[in-house]
Amino acid sequence: MPTYKAPLRDIRFVMDEILDFPAHYAQLPNGEEASPEIIGAILEEGAKFAEEVLTPLNQSGDTEGCQYNDGEVTTPKGFKEAYKQFVEGGWPSMTQDPNYGGQGLPQSLGMVLNEMICSSNLSWGMYPGLSHGAMDALQHHGTEEQKQTYLSKMIEGSWTGTMCLTEPHCGTDLGLIRTKAEPQADGSFSISGTKIFISAGEHDMSDNIVHLVLAKLPDAPEGSKGISLFIVPKFTPDANGEPGERNGVQCGSIEHKMGIHGNSTCVMNFDDAKGYIIGEPNKGLSYMFVMMNAARIGVGIQGLGLTEVAYQNSLAYARDRLQMRSLNGPQAPEKPADPIIVHPDVRRMLLTQKAFAEGGRALIYYTAQLIDQVSAGGEDAKDADDLLGLLTPIVKAFLTEAGFESTNQGLQCFGGHGFIHEWGMEQFVRDSRITLLYEGTTGIQALDLLGRKILMNQGESLRKFTKQVHKFCQAEEGNEELTALIAPLAKANKEWGDITMQIGMKAMQNRDEVGAASVDYLMYSGYVTLGYFWAKAAKVAQDALAAGTTEEAFYKGKLATAQFYFSKLFPRTQALAATIAQGGDSLMAMDDEQFGAGFEI
Ligand SMILES: Cc1cc2nc3c(=O)[nH]c(=O)nc-3n(C[C@H](O)[C@H](O)[C@H](O)COP(=O)(O)OP(=O)(O)OC[C@H]3O[C@@H](n4cnc5c(N)ncnc54)[C@H](O)[C@@H]3O)c2cc1C
Repeated sequence: MPTYKAPLRDIRFVMDEILDFPAHYAQLPNGEEASPEIIGAILEEGAKFAEEVLTPLNQSGDTEGCQYNDGEVTTPKGFKEAYKQFVEGGWPSMTQDPNYGGQGLPQSLGMVLNEMICSSNLSWGMYPGLSHGAMDALQHHGTEEQKQTYLSKMIEGSWTGTMCLTEPHCGTDLGLIRTKAEPQADGSFSISGTKIFISAGEHDMSDNIVHLVLAKLPDAPEGSKGISLFIVPKFTPDANGEPGERNGVQCGSIEHKMGIHGNSTCVMNFDDAKGYIIGEPNKGLSYMFVMMNAARIGVGIQGLGLTEVAYQNSLAYARDRLQMRSLNGPQAPEKPADPIIVHPDVRRMLLTQKAFAEGGRALIYYTAQLIDQVSAGGEDAKDADDLLGLLTPIVKAFLTEAGFESTNQGLQCFGGHGFIHEWGMEQFVRDSRITLLYEGTTGIQALDLLGRKILMNQGESLRKFTKQVHKFCQAEEGNEELTALIAPLAKANKEWGDITMQIGMKAMQNRDEVGAASVDYLMYSGYVTLGYFWAKAAKVAQDALAAGTTEEAFYKGKLATAQFYFSKLFPRTQALAATIAQGGDSLMAMDDEQFGAGFEI
């Protein structure tokens, strides 16, 4: 069975040494709450919960899956009890508004906890994860009464939340939704329609489930401009705010799927269900974006979590498994063969995972700081929001693509044993596959990055980020030990702007050029962004070693991984730049008949 140990030393490295979280918290209005003692307790207790409670349920949850019986869903053995423990520990309220029972800690601390949850049990983590997004939407756009009624229960953890967007005929294009909302005399709405693929739509872990549902009013404008957002509780709250009458929303079935078997993916039928509008009519999609942006970063964290756990398990295996001798002669002559970690190709696979995990952690924790700054308001909020907007699709898509590559590399280290269920590595691959799909596929994130976040604001957000990278590279220009990192980073950082301009010019003639370049462009952006954080990590490690640290292995490992990243992964930017430069002609040249020539379907 796979194991998991929370990487607390590396979490500390990112928080204290690369990103200076103490200084960051000192500038936040709620930063005082995040005292060193509190942070220490969250890390220690969060790690314990992830390692001791969630990890042992991961493989059994996958094997058992969720069970559906006449509208009710039973989660795998132990899930419910783990959730109870999570609630008793006060975890759901950690970063929520004290006015509704929250502890008011900065959001970033919740994201650190979330990483550990995603590594230890992704399926379980999605139950509180979905609630978190729903709480964000209510916090920002709910009325005082809605907050008192629903938010406080979700903060307490006794009720959970969902987001109900997808319908059988529409996922990406939400403008097509058909779920209807008819106004009622009492000010509520009657909601009817079918939603599919609703994560945590029905389960046995909480007393009530609060569905946030996108639907259309009778006179709504066509397309995405006519979408409104509604609260539809499973049980309508009674006069005391407790679960009352059963509402007209039922789980019709659950999906049998490739991975995340412990999380229920539900068809939800709304049949004259009582709903309550959030905010103004026809503005639902923009409200839902609050939830989706948080959820997108959350999915990036899932990519990171799976990368980390795949790395830990494949490393342990590679140290233990004896096969063949090193090409340079026996490295463990006392054994019948060398451990496979001596082989360069196995080291490539291990280092790829390590580089994505530790670089990804720095990137995500940086976005966590931006989220704190945006929530705090103040003079930095606008810049932080621009940077967050830019980095969100990169975090979501690049780190999940990296997560899928990493879990595959982790499996590959096990040889044939990786393909066998009991080792647990194939579960990580299966579980990670969904992260590239939900919350907007990689293709959709790429369009968001290049179209909305960069070209539509004339590259302003991009320049804010590349300026930071440029400043760092300039400061380290004379740092000879790090030249192999800094020089390619500085070059690619400049090229990033040039490539953007070139695509922008081509797009003026043909809009398809944006779509043709977008995924390669997103991956290019991801490698440069991670390169920046790896270069920063290398600089911190260099300084620590120069100062005579007692943790030589840790810091030398950082430098070696940074060097690996720049020599083996970063050069992928060159191939991506070359394919982007080719434009979209070869994609668009073929007509429909040519696609299908030679066979009939
Ligand atoms: C396990 C699971 C859990 C989920 N949880 C939830 C949930 O809790 N709530 C919820 O509402 N939904 C949920 N979803 C739905 C998920 O978000 C959608 O499946 C996803 O957004 C893609 O939509 P789709 O499946 O309809 O694909 P489609 O939109 O049909 O897309 C098909 C393909 O076309 C591509 N494509 C579409 N449009 C474009 C374009 N303009 N340019 C380029 N490429 C394009 C896509 O990238 C994709 O590769 C879940 C799905 C799964 C499988």
